[in-house]
Parts: sequence; C-alpha cells; structure tokens
Amino acid sequence: MPGRNFLFVPGPTNVPERILRAMDRAMEDHRSSAFPELSTAVFRDVKQAFKTTTGQPFIFPATGTGGWEAALVNTLSPGDRLLAPRYGQFSHLWIDLAQRHGLRVDIIDVEWGEGAPAERIEEILRGDTQHEIKGVLIVHNETATGVTSDVGAVRRALDAAQHPALLYVDGVSSIGSIDFRMDEWNVDLAITGSQKGLMLPPGLGLVCASPKALAAREHAKCPRVFFDFGDMIKANATGYFPYTPSLPLLHGLRESLEIMLAEGLDNIFARHHRLAEGVRAAVRAWGLKLCARAPRWHSDTVSAIMVPEGINGADVIDVAFRRYNLALGAGLGRLAGKLFRIGHLGDLNELMLLGAIAGAEMAMRDVGIKVTAGTGVAAAAEYYRSTAAPLAARAAVPSPDAQQQPGSGKPATPRATVRA
Ligand SMILES: *Cc1c(COP(=O)(O)O)cnc(C)c1O
Repeated sequence: MPGRNFLFVPGPTNVPERILRAMDRAMEDHRSSAFPELSTAVFRDVKQAFKTTTGQPFIFPATGTGGWEAALVNTLSPGDRLLAPRYGQFSHLWIDLAQRHGLRVDIIDVEWGEGAPAERIEEILRGDTQHEIKGVLIVHNETATGVTSDVGAVRRALDAAQHPALLYVDGVSSIGSIDFRMDEWNVDLAITGSQKGLMLPPGLGLVCASPKALAAREHAKCPRVFFDFGDMIKANATGYFPYTPSLPLLHGLRESLEIMLAEGLDNIFARHHRLAEGVRAAVRAWGLKLCARAPRWHSDTVSAIMVPEGINGADVIDVAFRRYNLALGAGLGRLAGKLFRIGHLGDLNELMLLGAIAGAEMAMRDVGIKVTAGTGVAAAAEYYRSTAAPLAARAAVPSPDAQQQPGSGKPATPRATVRA
C-alpha cells in the first residue's frame, strides 16, 4: 500500500528517523575499551527519564514483561505476599506472572475503567499488622483501559499505614510520556519497555531500583539467572554487561534520551496531554464513551473508546487497517470486541492525530456506527487550533529585490547581476 502506515497502537510506537539512523550501524565489540562510553552515557541519562538520582537502572535485552519479572525475582522469595489491584489486562498479566513465580497475591478487583484504589490499599495495609505483605504492585497507566492511576496517592497510603512494603510500579506506557516521579513517590521498582514512550523498537526491559529494593535483594530467594541484578551490578560498574547487550537498541536509546531531554520531560508531558485532549474532544463529538469512568482516570497516552452495543470493536480495527492503512489497538481480555484504542504516545503531533481520528471515524461509519462524518476531526482540530502555542515572531526575510546592502541603506545589487 502506498503512503505511510498510520501506527496508532499504544506500542510499539513510531520510531523517529534520528533514532532509526542511530541504530543503523555495524556491530561492534561490546567488550572493547570504547564501549563504556556508550553505556555510561545511557545509564546516566536514563535515570532522568525515571526522575531519579538515587535509583539504579538496569537494562535487559527483554521487554516490559521481562522488567516485571526482574523486579519481582530480585527482591522476593517464593511464598511472599503481595497486594495488587487489578483493573485491566496488564495488571491481570503481572499478577499472573507473580503467581507463577510462587508469590501469593492478594488481589483487589477494581472495575475495569477505574484505577488504583488508594484508600482501600491503605485500609488493607493498616490491617496487616504483622507486615506480611512484602510489596504493592501498581500499573501506573493501564494501557488496556486508558486509565492512569495516582501513584503519589498510593505512596501516601503506604506512608499513612506506616507499612514497609516495597512499591512496584509498571510505568511501561507512562514513563517518558506521563509524569512519573520515582524519587518523589519513593517508588522502589519502576519498570518500562523500549517500544512506548522511549520511541524505540521493542527489545529492552528497563528497571530502576531504589536503595531499599537493592537491600531487599540480599535475602530474596526467587531463582534468577538471566535477570539477576547482582550480575548486572558487577558488570555495569565498569560499563559492561554480563552477556551481549542489544547494541543497536543501546545506540537508539542514547539518541532517544538526547531527543527527549532536548524537548524537556515536562514539555513532553504537556504535549501528550494536549494531544490526548484533542482525541477526547473527538470522542465527545462522536457521542461515544471512553472506557475510563471519570476524568480523573483519563490517560494521556491511550484512549480506549467503547463501541455501541451490537458492534464488534474488532471490525473497526480490521476495516481501519485494511482500507485505510491505520493501525488501532484492540480490546484486550474481557474487553475484546467492546472497544478500540487510539494510542497517542511517542513521536506525534497534531496532524498525525487528526489522521488517526479521521481514519477511525471513516472505519466506524463503514461498520455501521452512527457517528456524523467530520465531527470528531472538527472537534479535535478546533481544540488544537485554540490551544496552539503563539507563533514566535517570524524572522524578517526580505525578498531578494528589497535586500539592503549591509549598512548602505541602498537596495542590494540584484542577484542575477552579481559577478563572482
Ligand atoms: C505494553 C505493556 C506491557 C508489556 O510490555 P511488553 O513489552 O509487551 O512485554 C506491560 N505493561 C503495560 C502497562 C504495557 O502497556
């Protein structure tokens, strides 16, 4: 199909040309004396993406799922108890992973469309007077439902209950796109993957561990080899890895961090919020509902849009892809068929979003959803116009005819007659 594929799944996201070029290189010796120059820069800058100065970053050739596993097995022992609210497919899968490692998870089932219930967590932790619960698992941004939880509120719940449990946070679809503050929120283990906010191909699982998490490692008995923090700490200390790292992805990560820090994290968060608000304006104009139950849960990286009764959300996605070369996200788990998702994270701007909104609108009409043509696009476009940054003063570029010779006050010699 000619033209670009419009990639609007909430990961993998679009990889900027600069990053593609940075990764397009010959392989090199990852044990050479030159290699630590790359790894040290990456370890230094990646901490900024987590907003931590005290945390220790780990970079595994894996994905977000590997990050989940690394965080748990390095800090816990089989039989340890965890507390985890479940409000979507990703919180569900993380709990499943924990259980398969022999951890006992106290699950708080929450309506899919809501987020972490801080008061309930506080109440349960207060009741755990023996401090049997070793950790609390929170998915910051539940990508399946388009819900962002208040991690700061969960931290305050732990503090109010004076409970020593470790705080584990999945930031796979938030870190680098939605404000995430590892140090301020005292997050003990923060996890992300390369293919979402970091704008890279899939293939890296990143974990940042607090000093308290690193101390928990001393008596954590879960078996671990590939994901062992100890082996990583030893090798990383001199700028190396215990096994072959993903060289192209490390070069890509260095470029990605450079791009992100140049834009500024807070500017990136503001851009994501504004792009998301445009999508939400379109959803309102269509007369449809988000899966997120209330504005406090609205995610700035993904919108899950409920389709009307009698319509299969998978048909919208299929038509959008085959007819308009637009990739939308599917309903996951128990939400299969009930919604479609527009991912709005990473390397995006207003007109790209308008393309996705137009394509979603066309595909919805094609499968019989009664949305009025153009309404979503118009609502988003007007929102983007009305919130656009003021134009910087245009640099004066006089026409060649009117060009003045410097300081002379006379018209410049017309170009055509200039002799070398
Ligand atoms: C994508 C995602 C994951 C899983 O990541 P993989 O890289 O596919 O293993 C985990 N949690 C959240 C919130 C995600 O969005």
